[in-house]
Amino acid sequence: MKTTTDPLVSLFLELIKIDALSGREKPVADYIIRFLTDLGFEPFTDDSAAITGSDTGNVVCKINGGGDFVVLCHMDTARTTKEVKPVFHDDRITSDGTTILGADDRAGISAVLFALRKAVAEKKAIRPFTLVFTTCEESTLLGSKSLQLDPAIKSGFVFDTWLPTGGFVNESCGAVALAIDVFGKASHSGVAPEKGINAIQIAVEALAKFSFGRINADTTANIGLIKGGEATNVVPDHVGLEGEVRSKNREMVEQEAQAVRKHFEEAAAKYGGKAQVDIRWDFEPYHISPQEAEYQRVEGVMKRLGLDAKPCLSWGGSDANSLNANGIRAINIGTGAQNPHANEEFILYSDLHNSSHIALELITFW
Ligand SMILES: [Zn+2]
Repeated sequence: MKTTTDPLVSLFLELIKIDALSGREKPVADYIIRFLTDLGFEPFTDDSAAITGSDTGNVVCKINGGGDFVVLCHMDTARTTKEVKPVFHDDRITSDGTTILGADDRAGISAVLFALRKAVAEKKAIRPFTLVFTTCEESTLLGSKSLQLDPAIKSGFVFDTWLPTGGFVNESCGAVALAIDVFGKASHSGVAPEKGINAIQIAVEALAKFSFGRINADTTANIGLIKGGEATNVVPDHVGLEGEVRSKNREMVEQEAQAVRKHFEEAAAKYGGKAQVDIRWDFEPYHISPQEAEYQRVEGVMKRLGLDAKPCLSWGGSDANSLNANGIRAINIGTGAQNPHANEEFILYSDLHNSSHIALELITFW
């Protein structure tokens, strides 16, 4: 059994014990800045806090001039790790079952920092690259969305997916958020129903045409929230709905979202009400093909380490989606932080070490 005598595990334990929810990442940022400064680098925080509302900016560190690629992890956790009590099993670390472990994404951070420290200590030839630690990944991806990198940066390697090491996300769906407001006119439902315009009735008519669930192999749609009305004897003048459409096919998302807008506007017009449908990208889809340099680089690293290189499609968004949307061809690499966001979250010692080996291969010359 490996415990805290393993320096990589020790680093991981120090990091998971820092409590930093989205928007409150400063203690992790401070830790990372100290770590990198001790290694002789010059990390800084960017200006993104003004946009994200976090208590820190993203941490950015240009290594050997900053190079043409970025290695990135996020600093926030989806739930608190304040009371985390790590339990050491033969092959893995778990929490005691009452909290998350925090491996998402502190495992990624540990792996990358440990690799860099090792490269420095062993005087390996380190490639020029930029190291980034983002805020607000778990809430809005706003840290990475607000990240302004040097135009020389063309590729990205994100260490933040639960896939066992060897796995990597080269393809991800995108998602638009739908925020719908239907406006009618209030009136007494018994005395003067004719004078009212029922916003719920309009919404029901539009929702009857909504394609719920898995629309096709590439696309899903959902209405997840509905709020409206005041009392049983009042014709409701407002109902608000929130939902999403996600697909690996960008046109499919846009087409479906526009259809939703049309159905609500038509139903509103029919009854003399109004519908406002706000359509906004939460994260955009991406696809890095096997012919692209980033794919081949990741595949090459996995092969060199004897890992089974497995490209995967993700149905969730990550900072890799933001990088791709900003023109940086980015892949999300598996760290093995399994069951993320759940009390059953765990990481295998082998995955923690393999992640760090992957990071070391990426940042050094072979
Ligand atoms: Zn994550």
